[in-house]
Amino acid sequence: MKNQKTIQEINEKIENGSVRVVTASEMIDIVAELGADGAVHEVDVVTTGTFGAMCSSGMWMNFGHAEPPIKMSKVWLNDVEAYGGVAAVDAYLGATQLSETRGMEYGGGHVIEDLIRRKSVHLRAEAYGTDCYPRKELSIDINIDEMNQATMSNPRNCYERYVAAVNSSDKTIYTYMGKLLPELGNATYSGAGDIAPIPNDPTFRTIGIGTRIFLGGAVGYITASGTQHSPGTGFSTLMLQGDVKNMSPEFIRGATFTRYGTSLYVGVGVPIPVLNSEIAKSTGISNEQIQTNVLDYGVPSRGRPTLTKVNYEELKSGAIEVNGVEVKTAPISSFGVASKITKLLAQQIKSGEFLLSEAVQLLPTDTACNPMVQRELTAVTTLAPATDQSVDDQFVRINKDLCVECGLCVSFCEPDVFAFDNDWTFTFRPELCVECELCGDVCPQKAISLRS
Ligand code: SF4
Ligand code: SF4
Repeated sequence: MKNQKTIQEINEKIENGSVRVVTASEMIDIVAELGADGAVHEVDVVTTGTFGAMCSSGMWMNFGHAEPPIKMSKVWLNDVEAYGGVAAVDAYLGATQLSETRGMEYGGGHVIEDLIRRKSVHLRAEAYGTDCYPRKELSIDINIDEMNQATMSNPRNCYERYVAAVNSSDKTIYTYMGKLLPELGNATYSGAGDIAPIPNDPTFRTIGIGTRIFLGGAVGYITASGTQHSPGTGFSTLMLQGDVKNMSPEFIRGATFTRYGTSLYVGVGVPIPVLNSEIAKSTGISNEQIQTNVLDYGVPSRGRPTLTKVNYEELKSGAIEVNGVEVKTAPISSFGVASKITKLLAQQIKSGEFLLSEAVQLLPTDTACNPMVQRELTAVTTLAPATDQSVDDQFVRINKDLCVECGLCVSFCEPDVFAFDNDWTFTFRPELCVECELCGDVCPQKAISLRS
């Protein structure tokens, strides 16, 4: 369908104060009253929002170089381990990583909230020590303003919808969907229903890589489809990024689910530009149209049985019927905060603070979330021989399959066995070798070997 408006035109309206912005819940009545064709003339942007526990969240940090410098291999913040398998003073802290001293009471999500609250956290690191990074231990207090970067990078947020959870077993169970009472004693669900971002643009006509969003109270961006993105089944997800230094604890909160672990409540708002009547139609979606499955978490298997199907209107009513039993429902996400995000974002757009961005690439609609392929172990593949056996009469040999032509060996070799031509073609002339042995340990690919 040909667009009736462009994002550029909408941004011009934002700048001259004539933009018409409504929240996703207001749009339902507008589309019902005017139809999609009428709504596209009436509304330029629909704001969506969600606020719930999103375990696949975390942040990248750069701490700055210490004196003496350290190449951190193990990193902890308030005794919560962060991933340090990157460059010297970078680390990634995941929301569900638990404290080594406080168990499930405290985890990565809480550290992120503490940092946003401008609290100091205890940074501890270990290293094996190198000539360029001789330090082996570090223990300091640090706050977010003392970090060079604190970038939220969430692999999977904003599920389009989520299943509802019940428990038919005879025991109380504790899950990421909260505490589930035995014998269908309660039901929990998640997501923001008809005001959530993806249900308002389920075929990704506007949402894509580079879409500017509200993330945790700051400006953020969609960087990709999220992990387990599965549009065909109604379970699409988003990968998000934003600057933690500008976020607010009102919209980013650590959480503990008893006997399950920690998580992070993340607030996200996505503006949907109403470019044509198809998009207007999709933003008119209501909770009755969003169906989900009620799964029995009392069955500890990936293939949990679906006991019934319900829609978000029924879930929000406070009770659903499962196997002839009336079961009380409660969300684990907040409709109140999600709604607040839609209003705040609408206000920011109307006031000219927040411009829309054009996605550089729309998100895929053909990926699926497949179960793990649990293949039997096979024999370990043997590594390629370190050297090219065809030239083993030479003192120095290169395995060309391993060489990446970086050139690090060039400066070590006086007779230019390793060299670059004028066009940066890497050349290897073993016949020039004077057997000085200087190059034996320099190759980062371990492609060079010397005759022993
Ligand atoms: S250092 Fe190793 S990888 Fe780099 S150009 Fe020399 S042989 Fe190739
Ligand atoms: S052994 Fe010495 S001369 Fe031979 S290739 Fe290596 S650096 Fe060059």
